[in-house]
Amino acid sequence: MAGLRTEGNKPLDSGRMNTMESIQGIPVSSGIAIGRAFVLDAVERYVPERKIPLEAVEAELKRLATAINGALDELVRLRDHTEQELGADAARILDFHIGVLKDETLLAPIQDRIRNGLVNAERAVAERFEQLAQQFRAMSSTVLRQKANDIIDLDRRVLGRLMGESDDRLSEIDGAVILVAHELTPSQAASIDRSKILGIATDAGGRTSHTSIVARALEIPCVVGCHALTSTIQDGEQIAVDGESGTILVRPVESSIEAYRGLQIKQSERRAELRSTANLEPATTDGTRVSLMGNIEFPEEVETTIGYGGDGVGLYRTEFLWLTSGRTPTEDEQFEEYRKTLELLDGRPLTIRTFDLGADKYTQEQSEEPERNPFLGCRSIRYCLQNLPMFKTQLRAILRASAFGRMKIMFPLVSTVMELRQTKMILKDVCEELDEEGIPYDRNLETGMMIEVPSAALMAKTFASEVSFFSIGTNDLIQYTLAVDRGNERVASLYTGAHPAVIQLIKNVVRAARRRSVDVSLCGEIAAEPMYTMLLIGLGIRTLSLVPSQIPAVKQVIRSVDIERCERVARKVGTFDSERQVINYLRTELRKVSPESLIDSASGT
Ligand code: PEP
Ligand code: MG
Repeated sequence: MAGLRTEGNKPLDSGRMNTMESIQGIPVSSGIAIGRAFVLDAVERYVPERKIPLEAVEAELKRLATAINGALDELVRLRDHTEQELGADAARILDFHIGVLKDETLLAPIQDRIRNGLVNAERAVAERFEQLAQQFRAMSSTVLRQKANDIIDLDRRVLGRLMGESDDRLSEIDGAVILVAHELTPSQAASIDRSKILGIATDAGGRTSHTSIVARALEIPCVVGCHALTSTIQDGEQIAVDGESGTILVRPVESSIEAYRGLQIKQSERRAELRSTANLEPATTDGTRVSLMGNIEFPEEVETTIGYGGDGVGLYRTEFLWLTSGRTPTEDEQFEEYRKTLELLDGRPLTIRTFDLGADKYTQEQSEEPERNPFLGCRSIRYCLQNLPMFKTQLRAILRASAFGRMKIMFPLVSTVMELRQTKMILKDVCEELDEEGIPYDRNLETGMMIEVPSAALMAKTFASEVSFFSIGTNDLIQYTLAVDRGNERVASLYTGAHPAVIQLIKNVVRAARRRSVDVSLCGEIAAEPMYTMLLIGLGIRTLSLVPSQIPAVKQVIRSVDIERCERVARKVGTFDSERQVINYLRTELRKVSPESLIDSASGT
């Protein structure tokens, strides 16, 4: 896992500026990037310390004043509004907040810390507010102790203003840089401009967190889970990101840069070689075809999918439409996006997934009261069922677009049969509405569900009589089966699709689907890892949906094996009781049939 190593002959603190440091993170999108770091502070409550040069002090103090004044204006407006709505007594609560922000004894130490400590305003604010909250927490009176929460609220208001600037900063990037952040929000990830971002490195995150998915989709070298990277590097310093091994070099020395450039050339040669196989059939040596589809977040990725030889789109993550706009898209806006996607596919199939909002995507930032366990909370289909007007709008847009090509609809995170039935009823209602309005749609639209919760995998037999296809979402299935947050770098080593429990669930789903003649595909990130290809085929899966750039690598494995070998691999894997055994065995088998593929699965989810 991630750690910090120092190379060079000067100690970290005194000679940092000249010292190369090597940090190990989790490799999530292959390729090598070398360039200037653009450090973005974006995540609420995580406040890295950055040293600022003496000449930047005045600007930093100005930022601080702007943030405090902005927060004050907001509080005064809120107090006036509260007074109108709830009366003077209720409004008085906010006078405490206003009083604290106007208090010179609060501000002076923050200004001092910026001036004398030469730290960024965010850090100085966070330190001071934490100190103040601690003072309140230590008081004997309960009333005063509770004031600590008010201080935290104030801290967020001011920090929110200081850090909210990071979105704007992102849009101000002028040259090609390597984006360094604690973690990117989904909307930041979704708005990344490929032409300006050479690579990405974050402190937090796991292989299937949204930043990783977007980085892979955009083919940007990316390493996540680097822990303290943001406090190790300064804006503008040189950095090298190796998305294959997960190594980050901060302030690399010339010889390391040269070595990385050599690797860069080798990797692009391998990619060009794989790309040239786009037109070859994804069939095993004994002639069984395995359909390879693309996972996309934006219509523009259809072109990449086709370019890499994809048969169509097996997963369209429509929620990215929200994440890029930061608001609810209208019915017509959605309709246009879906229709455009079908048009670009030019007769190839599209599986469109209804909004998978919630958890880390969108709803928490909008909510007055964030959920305690958002991944176990109101996300995906649950969120849609609690927000029916929004859900119906999306269903209308999808149905209208269905008249323009080959489309299937699929629902995410279904965990109970009643939930699925309710969803189908709503879909039926929307169909009736369109009938009444005389609006055309595909009356034979196939309806499917994602299997990404253990309850759905275990009850696959029951669900199979309710839908016409399953798509196994291992990204979530792994996290819910193993109780490992998919985006948490601290438990990333526990997150693996090679766990026998996960494999058994996949097996159960495939068996139930086959018995009821229901189509089954797999669209989690393991579909993109050559290490798993033989196993998945051996388990009976004949459709994989994956990040487009990995289609050639997976196809290479498919074309090197026959079904019998794959089934033998699956049987053998079924005898193991630990993920380590499974991983070792799968890697050994892969080496036998396609040694060059091992580099593509070096990261092994
Ligand atoms: C999954 O969970 O495997 C999946 C494909 O969906 P997402 O990654 O969008 O949650
Ligand atoms: Mg999922």
